Amino acid sequence: MSADTSPKNLDANPPVDGSELIRFDKVTKRFGSNVVLDELDFSVASGKHVTLIGPSGSGKTTILRLLMTLTSPDSGSIKVNGDYLTHEQRNGKLVPAGDKHIREVRKNIGMVFQQFNLFPNMKVLRNITEAPVTVLGLSKDEAEERARELLDMVGLGDRCDAYPTQLSGGQQQRVAIARALAMRPQVLLLDEVTSALDPELVAGVLDVLRDIARTTDITMLCVTHEMNFARDISDRVLMFDAGRVIESGSPDKMFTEPEHERTREFLSAVL
Ligand code: ADP
Repeated sequence: MSADTSPKNLDANPPVDGSELIRFDKVTKRFGSNVVLDELDFSVASGKHVTLIGPSGSGKTTILRLLMTLTSPDSGSIKVNGDYLTHEQRNGKLVPAGDKHIREVRKNIGMVFQQFNLFPNMKVLRNITEAPVTVLGLSKDEAEERARELLDMVGLGDRCDAYPTQLSGGQQQRVAIARALAMRPQVLLLDEVTSALDPELVAGVLDVLRDIARTTDITMLCVTHEMNFARDISDRVLMFDAGRVIESGSPDKMFTEPEHERTREFLSAVL
């Protein structure tokens, strides 16, 4: 399937609302004949916490992976902080983005994965300082100072010298959260970050995320099955079905009086 990202399909001069951090315009993503996202439009305002809910396979993780440029859309455009992630201006024309442009825009985005993905051969502190030093150009001292602050924040200030395998899954995930924040991203993507954890370790990770949501101005885009957590932290909840947003609203509205039959069915199965 050829990628249809030609400029004619773009909203070449869309209004940029100063508070809009993420914007998907008519984003379509297919895997073979499977249309995973179907001309998806949505936006997230700066500083807001938005949770994506919906049945397995409805395209939620694909949205986060598109933002991390781990995969690319077949058509449509994605903007982060007013810059196209999918395209760039070259000689006055909008063309598919090159690697350098993608790296620049992606600096605004941090992601925490289901499977932690820490570097197993590096101690905890180095896991956190590696990218700030190599990508942002921070000095080792600056990066270590910031890493220690973040490790204190996630309750692991005393584990700087441990290797990931010496930590519990919950502790590893808290290191992964600190590592994402060390890049000072404007948006934090959270992809089912507690799904791989033993049940007794889930609360510690969610408490750290609740604190971050409460005490920082970072924008969060979250895919989770933890509905109580979603209810606590979200400003807005988007219900996905078959690659489209079928309903959205405040957590109160979505969890207590959803309008759409599919939302009611989904919530009654998971709550
Ligand atoms: P969700 O996060 O809502 O469970 P996903 O975004 O993970 O959904 O997946 C949406 C659909 O895309 C699923 O049908 C899944 O099988 C398919 N899919 C995701 N990634 C790939 C891939 N790399 N190759 C083929 N199909 C994929």
